Amino acid sequence: MSSQVELAVKGIITEEMKAVAKAEGVPEEFVRDMTAQGKIVIPNSTTRKSRIVGIGKGLRTKVNASIGTSTDIADISLEIKKARMAQECGADTLMELSVGGDIRKVRREVLDSVELPVGTVPLYQAFAKAIEKYGTPVDMPEEMLFDIIEEQCADGVSFMAIHCGINRLTIERLRKQGYRYGGLVSKGGAYMVAWMVHNNKENPLFEHFGRVADILKKYDCVLSLGNGFRAGAIHDSSDRCQIQELVINCELAGEGRKMGCQMMVEGPGHIPIDEIEANVLLEKRMSNEAPFYVLGPITTDVAPGYDHITAAIGASLSSAYGADFICYVTPSEHLALPDVEDVKEGVMAARIAAYVGDMIKYKNRERDREMSLARRGLDWERQFKLAITGDKPKSIRASRMPSEENSCTMCGEFCATKIVTKYFEEDINAGEKRDLL
Ligand code: SF4
Repeated sequence: MSSQVELAVKGIITEEMKAVAKAEGVPEEFVRDMTAQGKIVIPNSTTRKSRIVGIGKGLRTKVNASIGTSTDIADISLEIKKARMAQECGADTLMELSVGGDIRKVRREVLDSVELPVGTVPLYQAFAKAIEKYGTPVDMPEEMLFDIIEEQCADGVSFMAIHCGINRLTIERLRKQGYRYGGLVSKGGAYMVAWMVHNNKENPLFEHFGRVADILKKYDCVLSLGNGFRAGAIHDSSDRCQIQELVINCELAGEGRKMGCQMMVEGPGHIPIDEIEANVLLEKRMSNEAPFYVLGPITTDVAPGYDHITAAIGASLSSAYGADFICYVTPSEHLALPDVEDVKEGVMAARIAAYVGDMIKYKNRERDREMSLARRGLDWERQFKLAITGDKPKSIRASRMPSEENSCTMCGEFCATKIVTKYFEEDINAGEKRDLL
């Protein structure tokens, strides 16, 4: 079975490409061409039908929600509730990142409970299995990594974050650079580095990259090159080892694409807002515009409890500068395993960020113009319809209805909109015809 890239290169427009074109309002030939060049990916699986979502150039910025058990809280029913909440709130994809309990069982039940494309980090299961079997992750046999990648593909996973870009060079950069405030914050990255140092061996996922790409290509699964050395502290942002891994990942994106595998590159992490543009530019330039998947990024270290907001700030700028896919962050980041409400807050914040970024990326402000008109016209039903935030606006208004008809309890009888409408009606109507773009 051929992958989307292989078919696109042959000039074939697949059903998946047609579905992406329809959903995004772009020509089918554009989606085929961009897929052939590796600038669009379509998370897919030969063993599971899921919603078709395109990620990349010319498409709406997509949002991922991550769920999964920990070693402390391993409750399958909770993870299913979180998965369903993410889907209900409008996430485009879901990552199932369990490390506790029966990891395969959680994955299979989550795959059955949603229609979203599901991603994973197979290193988590591999190292968890090694700990269970050998008592330590560093004794994991290399073959276990490849077996688990294949097992997860066969289960119906549509994209995988795999840490192929960690190699001896990235570790050398880390050593030469010295102190890092946040150390390594990627679980998969940290375990892989420990395995390499303990065994004095190259990363098998880098050394045998062709095997990894071959497995994913067989199932048409997207290979997302993991960001194991991403900064976990603002003072480590864009440092040498993070950029070293990015260079390697961009090279691998090109190699994988030539092999017919759908490829994506992952980005930071914790970075201040004045470094976001450079990170996006470097990834796009060095990978020939492979889709860029950013994890937040979180833009300050000092707002625990509100990291869905620090990340939404970073995500909106990333999207505006050209990032294609953002991973949500929840209010419980750095504090605890997210609960169902955290998932909801995280998805909504990330969706708003993606929307704000796309307004700049695609110079499209029509929906905002319509909302302004609905506000000036005090047309509440129209405002609710245009909102990207679900039922929340309606329920807030309903909970505190005004005595003055058509205003709201914010200003009540001092409603400025009502007064202006009464005395400047003509000017307001003229505004409807003004082309602000
Ligand atoms: S009462 Fe105030 S906030 Fe509410 S619609 Fe009127 S001007 Fe806007």
